Amino acid sequence: MGALDSVKVAIARRRLLANRIPKDSLYPLETWMAIKAVMTAKSERELKGIIGKKDQTDITRKDFDEYQLFRFREQIRYVKKNTPYYEEKLKDLIPENIRTLDDLNEVPFTLPSDLAEAPFSFMAVSRTKLAREFTTTGTTGKRKVIGYTTGDLIAKVDIISSALRSVGMSGDDVLHIMFPAVDAWDPSIMLAGACRVAGYGSSTCSSPDIKEQMEIMKKNGSTHIIGLPSFIYRVTALMGNEIDLKKLGIRKIISTSEPLSESMREKLQNAWGCNVLDVWGMTEFGLACAIECDKRKGLHTDEANLLFEVIDPDTGKRVPDGKMGELVVTALTAEATPLIRYRTRDIAAMISPPCSCGSKFNRKLVKPCGRMDLQFKVGMGYKIFPLLFDEAVFENKDVIDYQVNITKEGFKDVLTFELESKDQSDGVRDSVIAAVSKIMEIDDGIKEDLIEIPRVIFKEIGSMAYSAKAKKIVDLRENFDS
Ligand SMILES: [Zn+2]
Repeated sequence: MGALDSVKVAIARRRLLANRIPKDSLYPLETWMAIKAVMTAKSERELKGIIGKKDQTDITRKDFDEYQLFRFREQIRYVKKNTPYYEEKLKDLIPENIRTLDDLNEVPFTLPSDLAEAPFSFMAVSRTKLAREFTTTGTTGKRKVIGYTTGDLIAKVDIISSALRSVGMSGDDVLHIMFPAVDAWDPSIMLAGACRVAGYGSSTCSSPDIKEQMEIMKKNGSTHIIGLPSFIYRVTALMGNEIDLKKLGIRKIISTSEPLSESMREKLQNAWGCNVLDVWGMTEFGLACAIECDKRKGLHTDEANLLFEVIDPDTGKRVPDGKMGELVVTALTAEATPLIRYRTRDIAAMISPPCSCGSKFNRKLVKPCGRMDLQFKVGMGYKIFPLLFDEAVFENKDVIDYQVNITKEGFKDVLTFELESKDQSDGVRDSVIAAVSKIMEIDDGIKEDLIEIPRVIFKEIGSMAYSAKAKKIVDLRENFDS
């Protein structure tokens, strides 16, 4: 670590509220949120006038709602002043009028397509002020761009550090960070940074070589693991026969960035002899947004930085906790890309507090169980969704409908297109394969040898009318949730 780096770590440490969580906290992640509310009330007169001078242990759900509403009003003022998109969209909205959660119904939504259409009209700071910029995958030509300032990154480090405390990490523990691919937005960097600032050890290995992963884990005395469940599963399946994984002394495994099925969770827990906890996040909100506690009944959400709502997707109205609907998220503190009432297209529900882990006011998230646009990951994590294929497949006028089945052969994903087509000739087959292979996500996967050349099977017209309408992509891979 260079001298400048040490100074940066020292500064970040001081700004971090995670380091102020008392040792006897029952659920550190919630305590961290309470500290955030109390600190805000100390410096902001408006909030102090509402919740008074409370101690962090006295913060109730009602106080926290007030903290969130205060942050929401502040954020509305901020985005109206600093972003072209919201200056126009929210010109008639008076932030002072938002006093209750029901008042949120009056605030218009932001759609993912709005963000994809004009990402820079959402940026509240100049691009030179960005510490990092991330471009998501998407349909041809339209990619969402999300910016992060240094302040945004520190806020993330803070929540990750608090979450690691909640997972049970302390001074001598070492987190093994296991992501077998280096993405444009490498989660390893944030995780290693969070460990450093929080004072924990970490070891990172991005090699897909399983033996290498094991060696690094052992050499560093890792006590916790975080990574993609499909990869941790591979390690488990291939090493489980050679050594007793329980003897490695791993105390917790955190699964992130991919769906974790219950059967996979059970297999991992049995093999390693520890709990496996699930995480949920979105790039639009800096990834780490919610994490399970040991009770594993829903994911504790980062309510200090994010406001979670669930709406009826047809009426757009808020629904009470416990009811399923579309998840809508507002970034309460984001500086670079502050999104207001962003419709995630995820189907989810919120769970009212308390939780049997000891948390008193934090609302939990029922992990999104399906996306409205049904995304799946193939190759090294590229997201695919029906819209991506619609254009390519329907380019051919003879095609009536289609369904994509994803299977796995060895380590490769196989996409098989079942086509209802008027013309069932080799010409149609070849043109559909060519069109689909040209999609960036598929093309890259084929070049990297992670996806097979797509296949086509013709179906009789009318034979797939029922299933295909409801579900265009069917994931038949064992390790993934459908
Ligand atoms: Zn809990």
